[in-house]
Amino acid sequence: MPRPPSRRSGLFAALAATALAVTAGAVAVTVAAPPVAAAACNGYVALTYDDGPNTGTTNALLNALRSAGARATFFNVGQRVQQNPALVRAQQQAGMWIGNHSWTHPHMTQLSTAQMTSEISQTQQAIQQATGTAPRLFRPPYGETNSTLRAVQAQFGLTEVLWSVDSQDWNGASTAQIVQAANNLTDGGVILMHDGYQTTINAVPQIVANLATRNLCPGMISPATGRAVAPDGTNPTNPPTTPPTNPPTNPPTTPPTNPPTQGPGGCTATVSLNSWNGGFVATVRVTAGSSGTNGWSVGVTLPSGATVTNSWNSQRSGSSGAITFSNVSYNGRIAAGQSTEFGFQGTGSGTGMSPTCSAS
Ligand code: ZN
Repeated sequence: MPRPPSRRSGLFAALAATALAVTAGAVAVTVAAPPVAAAACNGYVALTYDDGPNTGTTNALLNALRSAGARATFFNVGQRVQQNPALVRAQQQAGMWIGNHSWTHPHMTQLSTAQMTSEISQTQQAIQQATGTAPRLFRPPYGETNSTLRAVQAQFGLTEVLWSVDSQDWNGASTAQIVQAANNLTDGGVILMHDGYQTTINAVPQIVANLATRNLCPGMISPATGRAVAPDGTNPTNPPTTPPTNPPTNPPTTPPTNPPTQGPGGCTATVSLNSWNGGFVATVRVTAGSSGTNGWSVGVTLPSGATVTNSWNSQRSGSSGAITFSNVSYNGRIAAGQSTEFGFQGTGSGTGMSPTCSAS
């Protein structure tokens, strides 16, 4: 059974037949080019493919992208990741970027906060297990979002990514119509497509060729802006190697519930909780002291009965009682006065945790 599309509604604009009648044979000749050098690019667009991985289409789509020298972003459905982790690793090994598209592809805005959290958390965990890194990008199914969902996304350090162009592949668009839709992309834009249609796979070579004639190159989606930017050579499932450059400029006027604890190496850790009956998500902000950090570790003692089931943006030892979270490669270095965040999800009550921080 095909996945529900990312979007069911919306007018299908009948596109005029164009001269770009694409045949497989004609296309194959035009795409034997190496990846386009960054210097030739006057702008970047993001090709995105939702609802995979799929045993019937993912490998063929990856082959088409590789042949065209293009990299794309795959918004995967968590349940499918769990069923097909090898296909997610194939995406990763083909140089693709990987985002979170929920666990079961529900209408997220109709869910409770706890259900939203579960949909996102399980998918983060499955992708982390398959690839070694957790996504930084989230696309809500059907493009349906609201402030509650955005708050949950923020708990996981996820940037919401919608689209500027809808290919309508989910709505029966032909390959030529998908190619035509991509011609509407402009610098920074993002096109919605799906991993699941042969029409979409067949459109890849001509989309990339047409972009090249406009000096546009396939790029990655910036976790900072949700827009297409030049590939930086890293997988955006990895957070940026530089610490956040915009620390809060207005410190809270009331002290945090858990006052910062100065570690011996010069860092502080504060925790904020999003709790519900039977569970919680904790976001921990690690702020470097006057000398900055090359690495850090944060100790947390969980309340009795609480168990950590998932964590992100850190390495964790233990799941109950006294737990230590250490930096991972991309967030150990924090400049003086700046900060980074990691998080964890647990069952039971997370109330009353007082993290301690030590820096190296
Ligand atoms: Zn979808």
